[in-house]
Amino acid sequence: MDEIKETVAAEETGGLNFVEQYIKEDLEAGKNGGRLNTRFPPEPNGYLHIGHAKAIIMDFGAAEKFGGTCNLRFDDTNPQKEDTEYVEAIKRDIHWLGFDWGDRLYYASDYFQQLYDLAVRLIKEGHAYVDEQTSEQIAAQKGTPTEPGVNSPYRDRPVEENLDLFERMNKGEFEEGSMTLRAKIDMAHSNMHFRDPIIYRIIKAPHWRTGDKWKVYPMYDFAHGQSDYFEGVTHSICTLEFVPHRPLYEYFVKFLADESYCPRQIEFNRLNLTYTVMSKRKLLQLVKEGLVRGWDDPRMPTLCGLRRRGYTPESIRDFVNRIGYTKYEALNHIELLEHSVREDLNKRATRVSAVVNPVKLVLTNYPEGKTETMQMDSNPEDPAAGTHDMPFSRELWIEREDFMENPPKKFFRMTPGKEVRLKGAYIVKCTECIKDADGNITEIHAEYDPETRSGLPGADRKVKGTLHWVSVPTAVDAEVRDYDRLFSVENPSAEEGDFRDLLNPDSLIVREGVKIEPWLADRAKEGDHYQFQRLGYYTVDPDSKPGKLVFNKTVGLKDTWAKMQKK
Ligand code: ATP
Ligand code: MG
Repeated sequence: MDEIKETVAAEETGGLNFVEQYIKEDLEAGKNGGRLNTRFPPEPNGYLHIGHAKAIIMDFGAAEKFGGTCNLRFDDTNPQKEDTEYVEAIKRDIHWLGFDWGDRLYYASDYFQQLYDLAVRLIKEGHAYVDEQTSEQIAAQKGTPTEPGVNSPYRDRPVEENLDLFERMNKGEFEEGSMTLRAKIDMAHSNMHFRDPIIYRIIKAPHWRTGDKWKVYPMYDFAHGQSDYFEGVTHSICTLEFVPHRPLYEYFVKFLADESYCPRQIEFNRLNLTYTVMSKRKLLQLVKEGLVRGWDDPRMPTLCGLRRRGYTPESIRDFVNRIGYTKYEALNHIELLEHSVREDLNKRATRVSAVVNPVKLVLTNYPEGKTETMQMDSNPEDPAAGTHDMPFSRELWIEREDFMENPPKKFFRMTPGKEVRLKGAYIVKCTECIKDADGNITEIHAEYDPETRSGLPGADRKVKGTLHWVSVPTAVDAEVRDYDRLFSVENPSAEEGDFRDLLNPDSLIVREGVKIEPWLADRAKEGDHYQFQRLGYYTVDPDSKPGKLVFNKTVGLKDTWAKMQKK
């Protein structure tokens, strides 16, 4: 008994990633009164992508794991780029992933007054000044990591003058770009972020929540840590590019916090995926320039794109678990993501028959006008799924690629003189193929063996190939959208030049006239997942209309990830 208890305990404490270990240590040390409060802080300037899912799973997941809470805070400090459309889409995607912020929905703009008051306090205490230089001049004075910067000529303005100018900046008396408020720290500091960072700038565009109230807006470094503090966030988990910002985060938070409560920033590695880009700026460009069909184009790495493609929240969470959280940047293989969705859909997707590139097969010895009903397994992975009926007749659709007139060795599909099984039906032997004047195959002829109907005793004569098929008289036409990689290079962000030149021109293939079995045509609903026998997993697209189903190919059947692991 004791032994069993011990393994359970080990499993319960083990399996934590390094961020969760830090959290556990803080909780055990009684920091922040033993509270855990994380936050997910998206800027509403685009749709969420799978990289954000990694952050969401960490932020909400850690809160769930340790009985804490997680805030959703929109980092809405730049009115020029932000939109409510994005806010609503972000909420939808977080819910879809399976997380909920409850009543903990916040906006950085909730804290504009508190942030402004803190800025005024910094000015009064001699820690901030109004600079009238252009951003180019300021950048030129910044120095380099090995050379100190140069002090601004406005650095030692009297406090009263700073207060007056800052107030007038906010009243709209000065043009955008003509003045900034800078923290007065140290122009020779070894951390470049400490060289008098800009903390406020003038923006005259109205803000979608606060309207015309503010003409000055806080910069990220001045807003983020303080917003965490105002909200009671204890662990501010973000990605590695914020490591050099952490000292500044701590510097500003120290103006507010004491030892009884102080938020802590922890950084983990970003999710980067092969054959795509993760930058919201680039994704927005693809959408705006019509290079994809929208944010939810099934080729996009956005959560709405992946959802439309047929990815499930479970598969995305599984993928994120597999890649894990570390302190080292990595490039993650898209094949692993595909592996996760393939495994998940294998469990849940109903098996159906569809022929995407049809050619007609005529069983010349099968009586004209006769039909039979074949019973097809709906999902061998799920005993509860049972079977469904599929009509069989003299004329069938099969895949063009499943026939070769002069095949190489080891071709076990249809070829003259050889037997194959039609899945769930009969063994047939090809007799000839009919061609048009240009030599294109228009029809294939075969004879069936009536003694070999699947399920009958003795029907199981060994044949090497099994083909899927759909009966011609009852087949229904559908559209299938096949996808390939969005970019033709593995790591587009690492390449020189314009990323748009690296787009894969063949990333979308639209197939009309795909033949599907009637049972599928009757029941398929938007978002449903199916396995087309022998072809892959397909998901019903929202473009489907009554009488015209549209399917997105989610992923093929071949486990390309396992193959990569063997290499
Ligand atoms: P931007 O370029 O606009 O800053 P962003 O992708 O950082 O884009 P945010 O809205 O600021 O967008 O991101 C919200 C949170 O998601 C941040 O905490 C950020 O660290 C995290 N995040 C963004 N991209 C990734 C990624 N690829 N992997 C893991 N986390 C990410
Ligand atoms: Mg960001």
